[in-house]
Amino acid sequence: MENLSFDVVVVGGGNAALCAALAAAEQGASVALLERAPEEKRGGNSKFTGGGFRMVHHGAQDIKRVVPDLSDADIARTDFGEYSAEEYLDDLGRITQYYIDPDLAETLVRNSTDTVHWLMGRGVTFLPNYGRQAYNHEGRFKFFGGVVIYANGGGAGLVEAEYKAAAKHSVTIKYGARAEAIVRGKNGVEGIRVLIGGVEERIGARAVVLACGGFESNREWRARYLGPGWDMAKVRGTRYNTGDGIRMALDIGAQSYGQWSGAHAVAWERYANDYGDVDGQHSAGYRHSYPFGLMVNADGERFVDEGADFRNYTYAKYGRAVLAQPGSYAWQLFDAQALPLLRDEYKMRGATKVRADSLEELVNKMQDVNPAGFLKTIREYNAAVKRDVKFDPNIKDGKCTVGLAIEKSNWANTMEQPPFEAYSVGCGITFTFGGLKIDPTGHVLDIEDAPIPGLYAAGELVGGLFYFNYPGSAGLMAGAVFGRIAGRGAGEFALKR
Ligand SMILES: Cc1cc2nc3c(=O)[nH]c(=O)nc-3n(C[C@H](O)[C@H](O)[C@H](O)COP(=O)(O)OP(=O)(O)OC[C@H]3O[C@@H](n4cnc5c(N)ncnc54)[C@H](O)[C@@H]3O)c2cc1C
Repeated sequence: MENLSFDVVVVGGGNAALCAALAAAEQGASVALLERAPEEKRGGNSKFTGGGFRMVHHGAQDIKRVVPDLSDADIARTDFGEYSAEEYLDDLGRITQYYIDPDLAETLVRNSTDTVHWLMGRGVTFLPNYGRQAYNHEGRFKFFGGVVIYANGGGAGLVEAEYKAAAKHSVTIKYGARAEAIVRGKNGVEGIRVLIGGVEERIGARAVVLACGGFESNREWRARYLGPGWDMAKVRGTRYNTGDGIRMALDIGAQSYGQWSGAHAVAWERYANDYGDVDGQHSAGYRHSYPFGLMVNADGERFVDEGADFRNYTYAKYGRAVLAQPGSYAWQLFDAQALPLLRDEYKMRGATKVRADSLEELVNKMQDVNPAGFLKTIREYNAAVKRDVKFDPNIKDGKCTVGLAIEKSNWANTMEQPPFEAYSVGCGITFTFGGLKIDPTGHVLDIEDAPIPGLYAAGELVGGLFYFNYPGSAGLMAGAVFGRIAGRGAGEFALKR
């Protein structure tokens, strides 16, 4: 049994863990980071992401500070809008049905911009997300839905830059290291028990930061906490987030918090692999262009308002809606008007797709959808579309239907111009919402809301931030904000001890 000891041990190897490790090291603490995955699969869900960050900004000048290479020509053709702290807080409140912990919400929002700059100081570079968060419409771009920037190189670029910075800060990194238990002594946390290469070791620590993800990759917990059927969902990202950090903390008296029955889940390629494959075409599973089309179930019926809001504010809850349909699948439909707007993933290999020049032919090719129900749905939909309103993908254009049981509120083009394409989707889970309770300093709280001395947490395993739904690109931002805070707190705590 090795007898290593560090001021701070960080459990996890994604964005939240790396931010925590960096912040702790910057306090002068000796830091070890334990990543369960082997080195080539390091980086957790963070590596799978598109790298989007939701931060407060006040227009082009703020974006230019984050993207110094932004040209005058780009600025001239772009409306970056503005995303104030108040709007951010409103979005978090509205999206979570006002269940969000207000202190955590304030902490996230007020630290967002500064944390992006902090990441820049550690080698992460950012770009405006043209094409994903702003469409080229009549020669102009207008950013929508509160998100402008993404990390250069997406999640892989982000994590790579963070690992480089961790190495520069002399963080000791152990791969294939699965933390199993927290060692708690009289005065708080004293270390971690960890399996490395199948051998159990104890690593001493004056403080521990748990940043090892939610329980989305644990089939049994999914069925247990999210409910029947969730064991069958596909995992969009890493296979390593099985709830270990949550369990370890609960075992020593931490308080469970947040929506344990809730998860971020999207409409995802129906026949995707069980887990994401970071080396392969994991992004091929995205089916995020539904606001410009329709979704129907096995009965040929629509079941959500595809245009209820910008994609950023609906996608994370529509996976659950797909799972609830007969057979837990659905089809997304697009006609010639929408095809140019489809994200690149629709064109990638592995998409379950059919194409036809008539709706009758299309539904025959779909095979597992009731043709009569389908044709009736489309007929009624087309008749309900407000044809006199102009379509605009960059704004909530109000081009809607009138008189349907489930309306389409925006981007309701008719479904009538061949060729037609349909893509089959199932439910892809991204991450779970339930977890541990922390205070705004990142300290893990016990059932009496008292901090467990020396125990900190950040990232997906923190409960209380997201309920029912999630505003796109808040996950990386929350991981960075709370990772940085938790790492700083752990570093200070360890050095004072
Ligand atoms: C396909 C996809 C796209 C996404 N796109 C975006 C986006 O563009 N913007 C955004 O904000 N969010 C996005 N997200 C969500 C985002 O990935 C998460 O919110 C965020 O990455 C969580 O960071 P984290 O550090 O908490 O967890 P992770 O990055 O998942 O890291 C958890 C780490 O813990 C390790 N681990 C687990 N158990 C143990 C253990 N017992 N011991 C040691 N280590 C352990 C894992 O190996 C992993 O390295 C996306 C997610 C997916 C799957």
